[in-house]
Amino acid sequence: MELFDLTGRVAVITGGNGGIGLGMAKGMATAGATIVVAGRDAKKNAAAVKELEGLGAVASAIAVDVLKEDSCRALIADTVKAYGRLDILVNNAGMSIRKQPEQYTLDEWRTVLDSNLTSAFLCSHAAYPAMKQGGRGKIVNIGSMMSIFGAPFAAAYAASKGGMVQMTKAMATAWAKDNIQVNAILPGWIDTALTRRARQEVQGLHESVLKRTPAGRWGIPDDFAGIAVFLAATASDFITGAAITVDGGFSVQG
Ligand code: NDP
Repeated sequence: MELFDLTGRVAVITGGNGGIGLGMAKGMATAGATIVVAGRDAKKNAAAVKELEGLGAVASAIAVDVLKEDSCRALIADTVKAYGRLDILVNNAGMSIRKQPEQYTLDEWRTVLDSNLTSAFLCSHAAYPAMKQGGRGKIVNIGSMMSIFGAPFAAAYAASKGGMVQMTKAMATAWAKDNIQVNAILPGWIDTALTRRARQEVQGLHESVLKRTPAGRWGIPDDFAGIAVFLAATASDFITGAAITVDGGFSVQG
């Protein structure tokens, strides 16, 4: 269907080499997009490209450390050089350091904020001229339940993910005139490398997520294929500045 067709569109996905990022990449690849996977781990990058090619997509990887401004700018420049355009940017790379607020060092705080929020600013900043020139663009920012709620172990992470939603709204208002839509996805609790570690570090997390999620299960990366296609495609052209939960009902449970 044309509304959801991504044929000819070029998508960059930071952290697209695993977890939720790869789930979104697979969705967009199936809809016809050319995918650039951007992560640090060369093995994961190569495996992701292979998986995407297996779906019949044109895919490649660019080694990126989103903590570095030069690396973010090179990612966008190299993509435009390779494919001649950039239509879709998914700011998905992220991490957490889980401890009580009083236990953070300033370096740890900055690492979380820079990995999750400043990286999204930098990649979007770098992508804007190419999208403007192409006459359209879709930016998808990955927030979290911590964009809405708090937790004792998540001061830096929650600050970064709350900031992600507000940055999404601000960029949406700024770039609507250029036909660039900027939206956020707020995942619930999803089974990935990130949360496997969280389950080890936070006692009782697994059970409390199961109990609170009306869908009765943890999410999986493939749950993000559909929303990624929707927010990247013509179907969502009048949607901008939104923060859409994909959480099995976690955030509406009373
Ligand atoms: P993963 O740990 O599987 O994915 C994180 C990704 O981010 C990896 O691909 C990693 O690539 C990349 N990444 C992290 N730091 C950097 C960096 N400095 N430079 C380049 N890439 C980096 O976890 P998820 O799939 O769960 O996380 C994806 C996003 O979803 C994150 O933003 C996370 O905060 C968010 N999220 C996840 C939830 C969940 O329950 N899983 C819930 C809510 C939000 P590499 O391995 O190559 O470094």
